[in-house]
Amino acid sequence: MGRQLPVYLDNHATTRLDPRVLDVMMPFLREQYGNAASRAHEYGWMAEAAVDIARAQVGRLIGADAEEIVFTSGATESINLAIKGTAEGLFQRSRRPGYQVITAATEHRAVLDTCRRLEDFGFRVVVVPVDGFGRVSPDDIARVITDDTALVSIMWANNEIGTIAPIADIAALCKVRGVLFHTDATQAAGRIPVDLRRVPVDLLSFSAHKMYGPKGIGALYVRKHSPRIPLAAQIDGGGHERGMRSGTLNVPGIVGFGKAAELAAEEMTEDNVRIGELRDLLIAGIRHHLEDVSINGHPREKLVHNANITFPGTSADALMMAMKDVAVSSGSACSSAQPEPSHVLRAIGLSEPESKGTLRIGLGRFTTREEIDYTVRRVMESVASLRGTKTRGQESLGEPASLRGA
Ligand SMILES: *Cc1c(COP(=O)(O)O)cnc(C)c1O
Repeated sequence: MGRQLPVYLDNHATTRLDPRVLDVMMPFLREQYGNAASRAHEYGWMAEAAVDIARAQVGRLIGADAEEIVFTSGATESINLAIKGTAEGLFQRSRRPGYQVITAATEHRAVLDTCRRLEDFGFRVVVVPVDGFGRVSPDDIARVITDDTALVSIMWANNEIGTIAPIADIAALCKVRGVLFHTDATQAAGRIPVDLRRVPVDLLSFSAHKMYGPKGIGALYVRKHSPRIPLAAQIDGGGHERGMRSGTLNVPGIVGFGKAAELAAEEMTEDNVRIGELRDLLIAGIRHHLEDVSINGHPREKLVHNANITFPGTSADALMMAMKDVAVSSGSACSSAQPEPSHVLRAIGLSEPESKGTLRIGLGRFTTREEIDYTVRRVMESVASLRGTKTRGQESLGEPASLRGA
């Protein structure tokens, strides 16, 4: 089992490719290189058959039919297609400007920036706040829905603090009000149960590389009927994916996504028990050794993979420099090009210094007990040295036996 350094604890940014996923992809990178749209020969048929199987596997993970899955290059593209596609589709239908889109303050940049882009086309964007745990209230959404609301977009689970939104309630509310509902389920799909036979979501974005699949492949779920979604393609061309997303299909990626989805469906329950125990050990260990730490996110409605921890009096950047043998992140990796404090942490009420003293630790399928023990020690040493204090119950800080020689 894993004794590799640096310890990888950044599973909200991306996950390791499961070796079983790589195995099923290999033939499609070697001898089965056909184009799934080639209708005239064996190579094409083989590729198409593999895509059909994967489409069903990906659909099954979220309780959708294969025909409701549109393959894209990842969640960012799926989100752009969902939001811009419905905006354009509605406009084409009615030729009426002045639509409104509703989203929340803690959304991923892919959602927030896409909504902002719509403002250039005369849309109004309403950003609802969240509570101190990062939860958006269905009542707050209900209050801002108007006759002009085109779309509500609320993430299923947050990529920084792990908070899980009351998606069933929000979806039901949108359905009653006759408003389309999109959810960014990139952190939820494959990690917690997502069943669209029970939750009336219209559009759902997700990505393979957050569930131990390959990078560069994602999907948009588009509900097949009631209502019919007015989705305008954002990439035109050969009419692939029923005209919703042209371009030659990434067959190896799709096959890998299918396998990753199948494994997630089979192993999620067991994985989550183990991962949750490790996360709780991590937090208990850090709390035992350090005074004055706070855990962000919802105490219960939260991904078991997530530990988002504020260490007042430190800076996450300095902490990460001090423990380069542990791969974690500060705030969201996706916005790390700009050194601004995380908009998610600010939205839940953290001050700027608190936000900057916060680490995001993301556990995953391959995280081991040894890695967690090692991380607890490294965090407590680094925080204590930055604060210029001693840790509680501190004894010898030698390398743990289990990691020696790693
Ligand atoms: C990673 C992530 C994305 C972006 O997904 P890509 O597949 O990398 O484009 C969007 N939303 C959330 C919540 C994410 O965690």
